[in-house]
Amino acid sequence: QPIVHAIDLTVMYESGPALERVSFEIYKGERVAVVGPNGAGKSTLFKVIAGILQPTSGRIEIYGGAPGEHICVAYVPQRSVVDWRFPVTVYDVVMMGRVGRIGLLRRPGRDDHRIVRQALERVGLSDLASRQIAQLSGGQQQRMFLARALAQEAELMLLDEPFTGLDLPSQNELLALLERLQGEGITIMVSLHDLNLAAQQFTRLLLLNRTLIALGTPQDVLNTQT
Ligand code: ADP
Ligand code: ADP
Repeated sequence: QPIVHAIDLTVMYESGPALERVSFEIYKGERVAVVGPNGAGKSTLFKVIAGILQPTSGRIEIYGGAPGEHICVAYVPQRSVVDWRFPVTVYDVVMMGRVGRIGLLRRPGRDDHRIVRQALERVGLSDLASRQIAQLSGGQQQRMFLARALAQEAELMLLDEPFTGLDLPSQNELLALLERLQGEGITIMVSLHDLNLAAQQFTRLLLLNRTLIALGTPQDVLNTQT
């Protein structure tokens, strides 16, 4: 059974269609790059998979159920940090991942603190736990959101343009981390513009431009595109 099954997804905004009759299957443990130009519908697709946005027609199944029904799906929007007006630490942000598990009314317990510390360690941010998030570099911010997704115990992670604005060392660090998470059985979908980066670093490519252009291994997709 696929982890993500998109069936004839269409999303209409007032301005027109952002997705048109998009169907595909993604399997557990894949590392998928969703590639397309600005406005191709990548963010819209992620919002539908995460259950934040209802498609106009068609449907999305996550292990045969609604998003969040069987497994936790974490969505990391692009430029997530910019809007944050409150002084919060890296630790606070990662702990927010626990709120979805334990509810707002229960205070974090010993287990929650342990899980947060482990998540920070897995992304290499243990030393920055008490840092204000405004002081993080772009690469550190992306790793912090991955730690939050780990604290949520998400099995499917959707990252919107995580490489945008990162320097090369930070990009490589993030790529290595994604590969490690994939090795632990987490399914990862990343949106990006750069087809070369996608083809080198991901196990499957999904080319999107309002409709599904191609889906397959990098080799298959590059062969059909040239
Ligand atoms: P991408 O992530 O590939 O850049 P988006 O999914 O953000 O693409 O956008 C796809 C299209 O839908 C774009 O033309 C965008 O302007 C439009 N769009 C996105 N969100 C909305 C919205 N909330 N209301 C109206 N139009 C939107
Ligand atoms: P991204 O680059 O991640 O696609 P955008 O900068 O296109 O993000 O959009 C930022 C936010 O504005 C998103 O939440 C998107 O849904 C919304 N948005 C994008 N295009 C439009 C639009 N034409 N009308 C209304 N909202 C939009």
